[in-house]
Amino acid sequence: MTFKDLGLSDDLLKAVTEMGFEKPSEIQEKSIPPLLDTERDYVGLAQTGTGKTAAFGLPMIQQVDIEYRAIQGLILCPTRELCIQIAKEMTQYAKYANGVNIVAVYGGASIQDQIRAIKKGANIIVGTPGRTIDLINRKALKFDSVSKVVLDEADEMLNMGFKEDINEILESTPAFKRTWLFSATMPRDVERIASNYMEDPIKVTVGTKNSSAANIDHKFCLVQGRDKYYALRRFIDHYPGLFGLVFCRTRRDTQEVAAKLMNDGYNADALHGDLSQGQRDTVMGKFRKKTIQILVATDVAARGIDVDDITHVFHYDLPDEIESYTHRSGRTARAGKSGISIALIAPAKSGKIKLVEKQIGKKLELVKAPSGQDICGMQLMKLIKNVEEVEVNEKGIAPFVAQIHESLKDYSKEELIERFVSVEFNRFLKAYEKAGDINVDPSKMRKGRDNESSGRRRTGETNTNRVFINVGKMDGFENKGQLLGFICNQSGVDGGSVGKIDLFDSFSFMGVDEGVGERLISAMNGKNIEDRDIRVEFSQDKPMGERGGGRGGDRGRNRNGRSGDRRSGGGDRRSSGGSSGGGGRNFRERRKRR
Ligand code: AMP
Repeated sequence: MTFKDLGLSDDLLKAVTEMGFEKPSEIQEKSIPPLLDTERDYVGLAQTGTGKTAAFGLPMIQQVDIEYRAIQGLILCPTRELCIQIAKEMTQYAKYANGVNIVAVYGGASIQDQIRAIKKGANIIVGTPGRTIDLINRKALKFDSVSKVVLDEADEMLNMGFKEDINEILESTPAFKRTWLFSATMPRDVERIASNYMEDPIKVTVGTKNSSAANIDHKFCLVQGRDKYYALRRFIDHYPGLFGLVFCRTRRDTQEVAAKLMNDGYNADALHGDLSQGQRDTVMGKFRKKTIQILVATDVAARGIDVDDITHVFHYDLPDEIESYTHRSGRTARAGKSGISIALIAPAKSGKIKLVEKQIGKKLELVKAPSGQDICGMQLMKLIKNVEEVEVNEKGIAPFVAQIHESLKDYSKEELIERFVSVEFNRFLKAYEKAGDINVDPSKMRKGRDNESSGRRRTGETNTNRVFINVGKMDGFENKGQLLGFICNQSGVDGGSVGKIDLFDSFSFMGVDEGVGERLISAMNGKNIEDRDIRVEFSQDKPMGERGGGRGGDRGRNRNGRSGDRRSGGGDRRSSGGSSGGGGRNFRERRKRR
């Protein structure tokens, strides 16, 4: 099958050939013909790296009517990174397509520049939900003529709390438009969007539902928590050509692991929510150029990382949301290449392996952290290969050859080899001289699901502080993930620094890392949700499971559902007797009427 067979125009064929695409990927083969031909909605289950940008981008560009100066296509995606990436790729596809104009709109950049770019005449908008809504509200974006909407990485967008924004944006597009939804996994929320907004969609799956790419080797290594860093280093040293991502659960771990690696002489850096946009761009730029060999990141910060050629993904901890495992490991094995995903797991957490296996539909292979001897052997072979492959600049070294020969004349060939090899190799010999076996006996693994079977941390296990927030299920948060997405999105706080969440009807509690409570309080207080003031404060209460009778429940929400005087909120709560409280009922009624 060739791109020509799929029905693409000559302009697009010329562009993809120039980009070096020889034949369509599976998702392209399965999607391009129906997206060019039919007027039906579409659901594509595919990982990043499978070529899905071209799968929706090429048909969208081909169907733009260039005579008609209006926005005809809209692509929504979860992160600024991905947004820039998609727009860049689409612009390359459209190189010979008679001036089809693609504009990216995303947060953290000048909105005025984006408005100017839109005014110049955009045919396709690639946007993150938040900035897109902003531009709709400023009347800078109008979608009356949009005939195709792509929801890219729909599961990620919902994870990040963009559900309401997506609904609002879809409402602003015409009824006649077609919706093309792409997602790596198909959780219930995504199914719901598909059933609410799409009619009898064509369904295309690459790999199996909720599974990860076929060409990823999924492995896990059983080590004690204290040995994880050493295990990570051993794997890094064992693969001399490694270009990898290390996922940590918290911002603090991310910083710590990256700092240790740097200290130990690796080209590593950290990417997490506490960095400014500029700092993140710099780190990502270096990673893309491979100046950084190992990037250590939190899940939230790494969303949308779209870098080809990543050979290894390490899970320093398994993610709280098991579905994130698919996204993490999908950062390797892009564009038909293969990749390795290695989870470092302490015996106490090994029950989670089953959850991951269920999620990806594959077994994880137990591997041992390489021994010092394995590593030295690999490094030695790499050194020899480098010697074999190095290009000798005879002209360049000619002036020095006589002097070199003179200096080394007393050594035999064998001695010379040993000495040259040792220049590079002593470092590893020394590092692993006393390296013992850090692998844990697999019989120590937990057999069943562990205590974290829900995929979440347990109350107070790791977080030192708890905060109260007067937002709950009645504000439309159907699960903890959605609330977390909203909070992270609004406050810029990293999801990894938030632990146990108790979500109630009209309020919630969250365990947070040291220092994060203060950030949440200053970022969230003053914001509002559905015209109600949000209030966050440190909780003096013990977690729900530990306190008697639900004391202190609906404080801060009065009969109007507004936050306000704590005394009146508390009064309401007690008089109504239920956990939702009097204010909650009113609020729900108001929500229903809207
Ligand atoms: P995507 O999944 O769209 O992010 O694509 C992943 C990478 O694969 C990008 O760098 C694309 O440029 C590249 N790519 C997409 N389609 C093909 C193809 N048919 N052949 C080779 N590379 C491709």
